[in-house]
Amino acid sequence: MKSSEIREKFLKFYESKGHTVVASSPLVPGNDPTLMFTNSGMVQFKDVFLGTDKRPYVRATSVQACLRAGGKHNDLENVGYTARHHTFFEMLGNWSFGDYFKQESIQWGWELLTKVYGLPPEKLLATVYHEDDEAFDIWTKVIGMPPERVIRIGDNKGGKYKSDNFWMMADTGPCGPCSEIFYDHGPHIAGGPPGSPDEDGDRFIEIWNHVFMQFDMAEDGSVKPLPAPCVDTGMGLERLAAILQGVHSNYEIDTFQALIKAAARETNTTDLDNNSLKVIADHIRATAFLIADGVIPSNEGRGYVQRRIVRRAIRHGYKLGQKKPFFHKLVKDLVEQMGDAYPKIKADADRITEVLKAEEERFFETLANGMEILDTALANGAKVLPGDVAFKLHDTFGFPLDLSADICRERGVTVDEAGFSAAMEKQKAAGRAAGKFKMERAVEYSGAGNVFTGYEHLEEQATVVGLYFEGTAVDELKEG
Ligand code: ATP
Ligand code: MG
Ligand code: MG
Ligand code: MG
Repeated sequence: MKSSEIREKFLKFYESKGHTVVASSPLVPGNDPTLMFTNSGMVQFKDVFLGTDKRPYVRATSVQACLRAGGKHNDLENVGYTARHHTFFEMLGNWSFGDYFKQESIQWGWELLTKVYGLPPEKLLATVYHEDDEAFDIWTKVIGMPPERVIRIGDNKGGKYKSDNFWMMADTGPCGPCSEIFYDHGPHIAGGPPGSPDEDGDRFIEIWNHVFMQFDMAEDGSVKPLPAPCVDTGMGLERLAAILQGVHSNYEIDTFQALIKAAARETNTTDLDNNSLKVIADHIRATAFLIADGVIPSNEGRGYVQRRIVRRAIRHGYKLGQKKPFFHKLVKDLVEQMGDAYPKIKADADRITEVLKAEEERFFETLANGMEILDTALANGAKVLPGDVAFKLHDTFGFPLDLSADICRERGVTVDEAGFSAAMEKQKAAGRAAGKFKMERAVEYSGAGNVFTGYEHLEEQATVVGLYFEGTAVDELKEG
């Protein structure tokens, strides 16, 4: 079953259950300072859950373009490493705004998966929030799933394993316990079931999350009930397509294979399994959709995330031996694959190509020299890239910190991030002494999360802002 057919069948099914089909919203959430990018289908309905917005329907369904490259949900570092993560992906979803609740959500989901898409029930398992006996009973008694295949999972407060059955859009806002559906790709693939020590493998792949939205979380972590209990579900189109197309990895599905072949063509690569091709295929989707939604590469905020993704893609092409701009040439292949479902990509193809080309030309000016500096620093088997080198790469050669870290990771090397921050501090101090820097703070974190309150005011500190705002490296520093 092709991706296009999967989309169509999903929307038709929920339409037949009284849902209104709603179009995908832009990757940049409208007027929501708690969120950098649309990371799930519910984002455009946030205010409906909170009760501050009303729609002429109480049931909705959509196929939402999502980006997880920053903020609460960030999968940038997973791309190229797992079979199931992208930065940009499509989420199939259905919603109840104070209408139906757990039973219908699970029953319809089950009907769709097993009857419409024809998935074998014995390959599916479910998780429920550990205290949610109601969901457990629906799975075991109404659906008839054997109890040993319904796994109770907590909210990961103790941080024991990675699983978490309490879903949150961001560090604040609508949230609630959830029930997830997993598909077992078989014992030939490494990985354990959800909630087990080796759950991070790709044998049991999570395909669908049914969130029972009940609370609004405040910055201090306290929750108050929503005006009415709601349902919010999200299923990754690419993960479902992998199953329906009889493959394991998302990167083996129709749309991705076409983009991987195009990336191979533009980089003269013969080995289609080369990991760099997957990364490039992922990143052309993310960056093209971002440009279509108005985010162009820059040194701040969303634009800096965009720049980081483009430069990572370019570096992977460089690694494959392509020393000239190539990435922008994939736009036409992307349009072929996704232009029908997303006409804005087709309509904007020329501009998207131009923006990417300009960014490529800019980065190719410094890329080779930067790589030389990096290689020299790591010659003689160094296990750590010194912070001052990482800073020089960043400051002079346009290597965002996460790009250097990405290259180092491939080589089993870490980056001295504290040293990087110190070098940056030093330069900022020197700049301040010279009276060059404005002293406003562009980004403010509130609470433990990385909620930001704006990044519009600054120019000189722009690169700093981009990094501190969304750099996973810095997130890790904060958390670690
Ligand atoms: P995972 O645990 O695999 O990282 P998740 O729990 O973070 O997934 P949810 O936030 O529950 O994912 O999102 C709902 C669904 O969206 C998932 O069940 C999955 O099918 C899909 N999905 C989530 N993240 C990605 C991604 N980075 N790429 C592709 N699909 C994704
Ligand atoms: Mg995730
Ligand atoms: Mg998960
Ligand atoms: Mg999940």
